[in-house]
Amino acid sequence: MKKRKQPRKGKKRVKKLDKRSKSTPGAKIKKSLWKVFSEYIRQRDGGICISCGKKDFWRKMDAGHYIPKTAGLMLYFDERNVNCQCTYCNRWMHGNLTKYAIALREKYGETILEELDKKRKEFKKISIPEYQKMIEEYKTKIQELKTKPAKLIRVNFGWYKGEIVKLKEYNEKSNLNRR
Ligand SMILES: [Zn+2]
Repeated sequence: MKKRKQPRKGKKRVKKLDKRSKSTPGAKIKKSLWKVFSEYIRQRDGGICISCGKKDFWRKMDAGHYIPKTAGLMLYFDERNVNCQCTYCNRWMHGNLTKYAIALREKYGETILEELDKKRKEFKKISIPEYQKMIEEYKTKIQELKTKPAKLIRVNFGWYKGEIVKLKEYNEKSNLNRR
């Protein structure tokens, strides 16, 4: 008897969730912005996972939040709170947050975690026109990336021709390559 009841409960819960996430115009445009924003982040970071340093084609990577999406809009589209991550770190390691935190400090400075935490407590609403504006801005930013080489995000090490190398060595090699 008990075994029968459980799947039914599950079904009900799914239905409720579906109702709640019914796409309103706001939800739709938020999704459109996320698509462009996430593409920008992954290309900006050159397809390198901030947590483990794995590198792949940006389309195969995720854009992962340090402070989770559920914390609200203040950090949902924050360029420092969102960085390129491999699907393993993002989806199976819950963001691999310990390593994420170390890398964030290396990337944005020692006070970054406190700054993000402070922002987390603020409240933000984004209007439809603001969303539209941001979508256009990120489309432009993606175009701009094409003229600039991707910045090296992983500070400790980078991937060079399939090999993981120390940062100093990476910079030397990639500089040589550019000349
Ligand atoms: Zn990773």
